[in-house]
Amino acid sequence: MSFLFESFEAWKVYCAEHNLKLFESVLEYEREQKGHTDKQIWEGLERAYTVMKGAVETGLSEEMSSRSGMINNGAKKVFNHPVSILSRDFQNLIARALAAKEVNSCMGRVVAAPTAGASGILPGTLYTLQEIHQLDDRKVFEGLLVGAGIALIIEQRASLAGAVGGCQAETGSAAAMASGAIVYCLGGTTDQIFNAVAITIQCMLGLVCDPVAGLVEVPCVVRNASAAAISYSSAQIALANVSGIIPVDECVEAMGEVGQSMEDRYKETALGGLAATKTGQEISKKILIQDIEILPDEETKE
Ligand code: SF4
Repeated sequence: MSFLFESFEAWKVYCAEHNLKLFESVLEYEREQKGHTDKQIWEGLERAYTVMKGAVETGLSEEMSSRSGMINNGAKKVFNHPVSILSRDFQNLIARALAAKEVNSCMGRVVAAPTAGASGILPGTLYTLQEIHQLDDRKVFEGLLVGAGIALIIEQRASLAGAVGGCQAETGSAAAMASGAIVYCLGGTTDQIFNAVAITIQCMLGLVCDPVAGLVEVPCVVRNASAAAISYSSAQIALANVSGIIPVDECVEAMGEVGQSMEDRYKETALGGLAATKTGQEISKKILIQDIEILPDEETKE
């Protein structure tokens, strides 16, 4: 049944014909394609969500500074700042997305959803959604399955990897997974869920992958926060039945086309964009020198 995840239209038709909810068809896919039992799938989701929440909490409570010095406890500073620009919930959302991603940048434990570079987006959005709307864990797990179905289609029709499709493929896909999951968890229809995905892709389209010094730190960490915010704005728009006009499958096609036409310097090579700026280059040289300094001296080697 993997044909199902080649397009959103096919997914919708399959679910309508078989009287299945979106998440139930992903469960079926997991059973058929991976040979997992329902018990294994739900337990796997529980483990994944526990790691996601753990990453948020670790990032907000433990020392988070990277060897490069580019990550320095940013999430805690945002979380503890006395000024809430929009609301405390929004501040929490941003701080949590930063927190989980900082854990990844500091080599901690995260769930790659869909990639490590985008590992702050689903934890930040779902943790905050569950808290605000008092959702039970089961609903969040179902939302994760909906997100997985969304990622399967994007992977087939475009890409989930920054090295292939730019940052739109990583943080853009994670934001699309999150917005679909948010709308699902709040009782949205299939059309509203897919419209949220379409709007999210429209907002993230064209984002290049340009990590400074080749480290998944800058701009990756702040992009996790902005992608989390976009997933919420897209979900809010979609829930109100405001159409993104371009159907979701066409948005994914556009994402693939933009990714293919991107030059290699915008695909994780650290040769373009922010990585190529004067400061980006200086940081890159400094890190290279640090790495050479910690290499064992030939003469002192046993
Ligand atoms: S800039 Fe590149 S490495 Fe960083 S999150 Fe985006 S795709 Fe991943």
